[in-house]
Amino acid sequence: MSIQNRFQPLLKQREQEHLYRRRPLVFSPQQPIMQINGIECINFSSNDYLGLANHPNIKQALLNSLNTEDDISYGSGAAHLVTGHHLHHHLLEDELADWLGVERTLLFSTGYMANLAVQQTLMQAGDTILADKLNHASLIDGAQLSAATVKRYPHLDMEALERRLKQAQAQNSQVMIVTDGVFSMDGDIAPLKTLQQLAQNYQAWLFVDDAHGIGTLGKQGKGCFEHFGLEPDENTIIVGTLGKAFGTSGAFVAGSETLIETLIQFARPYIYTTAMPQLNALAIREALKLVKNAEASREALQQNIKHFREGALKIGLNLWPSETAIQPIMLGKSETAVAWSEALKQAGFWVGAIRPPTVPKNQARLRVTLSASHTVEQIDQLLQALHNIQTRIGG
Ligand code: PMP
Repeated sequence: MSIQNRFQPLLKQREQEHLYRRRPLVFSPQQPIMQINGIECINFSSNDYLGLANHPNIKQALLNSLNTEDDISYGSGAAHLVTGHHLHHHLLEDELADWLGVERTLLFSTGYMANLAVQQTLMQAGDTILADKLNHASLIDGAQLSAATVKRYPHLDMEALERRLKQAQAQNSQVMIVTDGVFSMDGDIAPLKTLQQLAQNYQAWLFVDDAHGIGTLGKQGKGCFEHFGLEPDENTIIVGTLGKAFGTSGAFVAGSETLIETLIQFARPYIYTTAMPQLNALAIREALKLVKNAEASREALQQNIKHFREGALKIGLNLWPSETAIQPIMLGKSETAVAWSEALKQAGFWVGAIRPPTVPKNQARLRVTLSASHTVEQIDQLLQALHNIQTRIGG
């Protein structure tokens, strides 16, 4: 069968189900006012939570390094274990570990790869992965790549999790509890205190993907552990991504010396891939300085979240109980979400419609993401546009 014959019907079906996705073409730097598909609009879809993606300090650090005796190549040239592990990668890992108060960190080119690596490497046949049902796709894929038995528990349901922990204990199976820190499509925060307690009670390992928490949550931006006033213990594994609040790209795993050495020795998504460009590591080092000193931006982000929620609830929008920068407006049907997103585009706002399979059936939504770089006026304009669309199209 030709590729055409196999896949054309599937593409057609996607279109008919209002699930077909197109990549918006961006013509401007990442910032609140952007040119997307030739339209000038205010962007409420990015993960640039602290407004660092286009920060002058990061650009300047890159320019300086290119113009001085540093003599940095763009490409890293090889995998970390070959000859691709350059000085800025090495320094960045130490700086991230110092900042987070963990023994070590390990860089990956993407969060997706870090999430594949942790579960595939650590979880073996006979082990059990207990995963929140709404975990990010990369965590789901990572679980599937491992040889462990995978069981999912209903979203945030700690009693259901404990029942599964008891079952695994009865079978003498090593458990890893796997959860998003901040759920990427819902914006709610995992109940880390209970999760940590359960992990300790049942000698389970706790793996938290804090992609959306790192940089934004906690006074110092150290993520969801700091948010709850908790310290990671020796059986905690944290993934942080660098393409969101850090405004760059890449990710790191944070944890114990043994954890990191195990990943270096055995993690296929670490070993068999070229190291990220050294210049990116240099940009992340600059971003880390900014994140450490971003207390005012984190406060501004919290104010923006509060302002948006108050305004949205006042006009009767169906919000999710989220206190983070991710604020879904629940609409149900995919075609409704698409219609609202299109109407917002016409009004000059970019807000993505999130549909199955990214979210469960009949839970299509608009996913508004807020940044410290949005102004109150921009948020008010969005609320006004949402109010107009609600009156015109309905939910
Ligand atoms: N985890 C979560 C919760 C995410 O939202 C994302 C990105 N959307 C990732 C992991 C993947 O990170 P990256 O984009 O660096 O691959």
